[in-house]
Amino acid sequence: MNRSVAVGSILLSASSLIFAVTYKAKVSADDQSLAGYSSESSRAERQWEEKFREIPSPDNLRAYMQHLSARPHNVGTVYDKENAEWIAAKFKEFGLDTHIEQFDVLYPTPKERVVELVEGGPKFSAKLQEPALSDDPTSNQQAEQLPTYHAYSKDGDVTAPLVYVNYGIPEDYEQLDRMGVSVKGKIVIARYFHSWRGIKPKVAAEHGAVGCLIYSDPHEDGFVQGETFPKGAWRPKDGVQRGSVADMPFYPGDPLTPGVGATKDAKRLKIEDAATITKIPVLPISYADAQPLLEALTGRVAPPQWRGGLGITYHVGPGDAKVHLKVKSNWGSKPVYDVIAKIPGATFPDEWVLRGNHHDAWVNGAEDPTSGMVAVLEEARALGELLRAGWKPKRTIIYCAWDGEEPGLLGSTEWAETHYDELQAHAVAYINSDSNGRGYLGIEGSHTLEKFSNDISRTSPIPKPNFPPGSEIICTKSPKPNRPRTARRFVSALTSASPPWAQDRTTPLSFNMMASLP
Ligand SMILES: [Zn+2]
Repeated sequence: MNRSVAVGSILLSASSLIFAVTYKAKVSADDQSLAGYSSESSRAERQWEEKFREIPSPDNLRAYMQHLSARPHNVGTVYDKENAEWIAAKFKEFGLDTHIEQFDVLYPTPKERVVELVEGGPKFSAKLQEPALSDDPTSNQQAEQLPTYHAYSKDGDVTAPLVYVNYGIPEDYEQLDRMGVSVKGKIVIARYFHSWRGIKPKVAAEHGAVGCLIYSDPHEDGFVQGETFPKGAWRPKDGVQRGSVADMPFYPGDPLTPGVGATKDAKRLKIEDAATITKIPVLPISYADAQPLLEALTGRVAPPQWRGGLGITYHVGPGDAKVHLKVKSNWGSKPVYDVIAKIPGATFPDEWVLRGNHHDAWVNGAEDPTSGMVAVLEEARALGELLRAGWKPKRTIIYCAWDGEEPGLLGSTEWAETHYDELQAHAVAYINSDSNGRGYLGIEGSHTLEKFSNDISRTSPIPKPNFPPGSEIICTKSPKPNRPRTARRFVSALTSASPPWAQDRTTPLSFNMMASLP
């Protein structure tokens, strides 16, 4: 999911990856057996892992990164398909049994977008456009870029008074109630953060709003946090966070085929019956575009916690400030291409360990998902090398390079729905990743994988936060299939005779990891 500066640079992401891979601290001698191994098989396993860690090459990562992020590759673009084919060719080159599965999903792209202040202040039309920057060699590919928008916003053309709703979460509406402010018939403007973006238009519509704008306030995502791009990594004034606003908590995947794979002949809902499309039109805007709108607001001064980082007095409204919001999309079907590559298991071939990362992006996607995808590719190449050296995984490993993750977990959901029965019978674990960056090792997932995760954390050459010695990772979150983060060291899960997660096989387990360095 897109949390990064939309105009992010390939070079920044690539350099942190190089760090991530070239750092090869000696793993401390550990005489303890790995969970699920005898002391003898632990020794053999550690030797294989040592060999595995020697293989990934920064030069390869750089080359993959530059290739995959060279052009915009959102769903439906020529380059999205080319990337899928290129990834498939790589998996084949590494010796994996590979194919591409195609699904056809509803995927709206913007046709008309208007945000303007029509009353209550100087006339203003929002730019809704990220400028090309000389420091960012791909930012001028504007003809291929998806305009800034929210995927699965309903079409609409509304003119109404504006109300500022802070983060636009339920407690903000309770505060508005206490202030005697209603959003009924109004357009709301909310700032990003403190909830997933799709919640904001949903809650706004439930309170009677007719339109929704979501902007990135510099307080959370801009100059208040640090230097902005290109001087630093924070969002510049014209940067816009694209994203999906589909009601994914209701159901993820193609809005027209809930519960079944979006194959050619699948029975599809009518667009107007798709429950996950928003109830009101919604658009994301930059803080440069938001400022004139917020400045025009009158009414009550916003409570202290509601004030952002723009140098203005934040008002809640409503007042004379009236906004015109228009959103119109092309509501077409687009193909998504999932790349599926297999390494057969030697002992338990019917037990599948799935390993996924998505390959589609909102724009060039150097950070999300390419920094994750390139590590997965090198990981697969390393396993290919180990296979040639005589290593055999006990369980079948299936690599999945998903398409259509950004607009709504499309590729992974449709694949899982299509292969539901096989997955019920064979899937034992799912290991997901999304991006690599600076920071620490982070893992979230099924509780049963806690010991396994602790083992990884102990032996991994990746720095951990400054926890006291002996601290353990506690998995605190439920599995979120296809919710990003990167794993590079998972050989023990694949080769152990009875890994910890094999003791609880009622549901496939999953986890997300992010491996990175400060
Ligand atoms: Zn992602």
